[in-house]
Amino acid sequence: MNARGLGPVAAKFGLGWVGSALTGHERRQGMLVIPYMRPAGGENAVATIRFRCIADECVKDENGEFYAPTRKEDHSRHKKWFGKYWGLPGDVPRLYNTPALVTASPYVVLTEGEFDAQVWDMADVPATGYQGTDAWRDHFIPPYLGYERVFIIADGDEAGIKAAEARAAQIPKSTVVSLKDGLDSNSFFHIHGRDALRGVIGL
Ligand SMILES: [Zn+2]
Repeated sequence: MNARGLGPVAAKFGLGWVGSALTGHERRQGMLVIPYMRPAGGENAVATIRFRCIADECVKDENGEFYAPTRKEDHSRHKKWFGKYWGLPGDVPRLYNTPALVTASPYVVLTEGEFDAQVWDMADVPATGYQGTDAWRDHFIPPYLGYERVFIIADGDEAGIKAAEARAAQIPKSTVVSLKDGLDSNSFFHIHGRDALRGVIGL
């Protein structure tokens, strides 16, 4: 997973891997596990978990090179059953990395996707993620009120900018920050590094 720049964050975010799936979860075999941690520790520390496909056939090309960070992965072979991400049965959309929202900070970042939130957090910027346009809910808005600035990070393509602008229309004191060249935060971080990522929001 170093190709995605995740090595150092795996421990912090509790990332795991389905090495031996329990009965009923066989189709999640080999997937990356992303826990949704709550700010408070203890028994209820994990609100849910999501799975992310990291199958070689999907994330590497025919030469064994990772598509990331410059090319799109190809999950078409299992698209009929599940996409790049998969939740637990009956789960509802949630915000990712909510501990960032109880960090003392005048600003916070909102990204589309868990891994993008992680790289901002890795760059010492409080950051949260949502699961995509279809998974945005109006009750996600109040946690973002009261900040001096909410930076909504748009992936550098038309769909990304459209989604970010829709979020900005709902969140006061928010600014859409667009990453260039079709990059998402993760790709940008991988290519340009920590300081350049912070520079995107003027830090
Ligand atoms: Zn896949």
